Parts: sequence; C-alpha cells; structure tokens
Amino acid sequence: MNCLCCGKPLSNDSAVEKTSFWHNSCIKKFFFSKNLPKIDITDEVLEQYANENINNGITVPGVQRKLSLHLTQGDNPRLTLVNYPTVYILKPQVPEYRSLPEAEFLVMQMALRTGIKTVPFALFMMENSSYSYITRRIDRIVPNNTIKANMHAMEDFCQLSGRLSQDKYHGSYEQCSKIISKYSINTGLDLSELFVRIVFSYVAGNSDMHLKNFSLIETAPNSQEYVLSPAYDMLPVNIILPEDENQLALTLNEKKRNIKKKDFLALAENAGILSKSAEKMINKIVTLKETYLKMCSDSYLPDDMKSEFYKLITDRISIIAE
Ligand SMILES: [Zn+2]
Repeated sequence: MNCLCCGKPLSNDSAVEKTSFWHNSCIKKFFFSKNLPKIDITDEVLEQYANENINNGITVPGVQRKLSLHLTQGDNPRLTLVNYPTVYILKPQVPEYRSLPEAEFLVMQMALRTGIKTVPFALFMMENSSYSYITRRIDRIVPNNTIKANMHAMEDFCQLSGRLSQDKYHGSYEQCSKIISKYSINTGLDLSELFVRIVFSYVAGNSDMHLKNFSLIETAPNSQEYVLSPAYDMLPVNIILPEDENQLALTLNEKKRNIKKKDFLALAENAGILSKSAEKMINKIVTLKETYLKMCSDSYLPDDMKSEFYKLITDRISIIAE
C-alpha cells in the first residue's frame, strides 16, 4: 500500500503508518499534527450529502459541494464539519459518478509529476472504507490553526475578466494568457505554467478547466503582488462523463473539440511564448506517457476506468506528438 498523501510506499515498521496509510512526515506537512486526524462525520451526513448532490441536479463532476472541515489539534486531532469556509475541504464519494475522489487524486498526482504546481491534496480513508478527496486551502496560512490571520487575497479568472460565475465556460485560453500578462508579476513563468496546464489537461481528459479553475494569488498577505495560484480541481471529466464531447472547457484557437497540436502552438504564439519553448513543453508531456500509464495502473480507479483512461492518454499523446 502506498501513502494516501504522496503516493510513495509506506514503511512497514511504523505503527502509525500501518494504520493510517499516511507517512508520518506527510501527516505533519498536511495537518501540522503528529497523528492523522479523525473525521467526525456520520454516515447520515454523508448520505445527506450524496442526496443533496442528486437533488441539486449536479451535472458536472467538478461542482459537487465541498465540505468545510475545522481541525482541532491535540494528541487526538479531529476534523469537524462546519458551515463556514475553512482551511480543509473534503469531497466525499457521490453516487452519480464512480470513484470521483480517486480520479481527482490521480490527475492531481499526474499534474505534480508533470511539474505543475498544485495545492496540497490527498485521499482520506473514511470509516466505511470509502475514499474521500481532501485538500488544504492555500490562501490561508495555518500556524496554530488560527485561520483568521494571514489571508492571501485570491481572485479567479472569472472575477478578473469581469464575468458572472455562470459564465465561467464563456472565454478562451487566449484570454487567460491576457489576464496573466496584465496582472501577474511573474508574467513569463506564469504564461509557461498556464500553457503546460492546458496541454496537460487535454492529455488527462480534464475538460473542466474553466475560468474559475484558474486564480491569481497574492505572493504574501497584503503584498498586492499577484502570481498564478497552484492548480486545483483537476479531474478526468472525459472519462467520468464520456457523453460530453468537449475536450476543453474554454476555447483554444476558437475550438473546444477536435484539438490538434497546432492549436496549442497557436495559443503559444498568441501569448508570446517562443515556438521552440512551446514544442519543448509539449515534448516533455509526450515523454511522460509511460509514467502516466503506470500511475494510472497503480491508481485506485476500478479496472474498466483504468482501461478507458489508458486509451484516452495514449490517443491524446499521439495527437500532440505529431
Ligand atoms: Zn507520504
């Protein structure tokens, strides 16, 4: 069994690791505590959560409601459900889509392996032995768990482009690059990072990278200097929801489907990225093909989803490798 946080093998001689399925070091890094917190959520709450998703007619896998958890430190740390935004966010299983937490964990891990900056994330084994996806917000620093202090301002690209939330699918990746050029103090680096994230999302079947899934974040509280925030909410939507034929959430070279390598190169040119650099970034992803397939086969996805994902990654990489 591998660590549910970093995905690397666990040591056999640690009692904590054997029961929690987390490295001691990963528990410390993620929760700032010695032991893995216990989650105080009853089966009734989880059931209610699942029903709520159905009743709200959730049709896009990425928009399932997120549960806010408050962490109480101590010898027996606990995570309790609260109804205000806090530092830890839990996304449990939902009945409409199989293995959503496992799928998000896998794609976030693949993103990390690609060199994409991500928010802290992990899987959490629930009392009923199902997995939930857990993530820690990055706009709140949590020394001593004082969540009020040290807020980094964070604004998503929907707000930055003056659009309403419901218009988050209206826009283009070319506009995203304009937002970075206008507001980021790391323009060059952030444009490359954006480019890699878009190519990677295509390869990973993540067709839900809309305007709210990109944000700028302050470099330090009140610095008023912004950079592209680490990546979050990355899901292989094309596997989870094969009926959706769009390959991308926003337009790339005026298209959302039938994407070809030349469309990525057109974006690079539009964003002022040298074509040589763009080719290099694409090639890096192409060379990771076997790594992605191995990660997929080692993942917690059911076998039929693994084979679907295999096929998708292989097809898409052959398209950008042309
Ligand atoms: Zn670990």
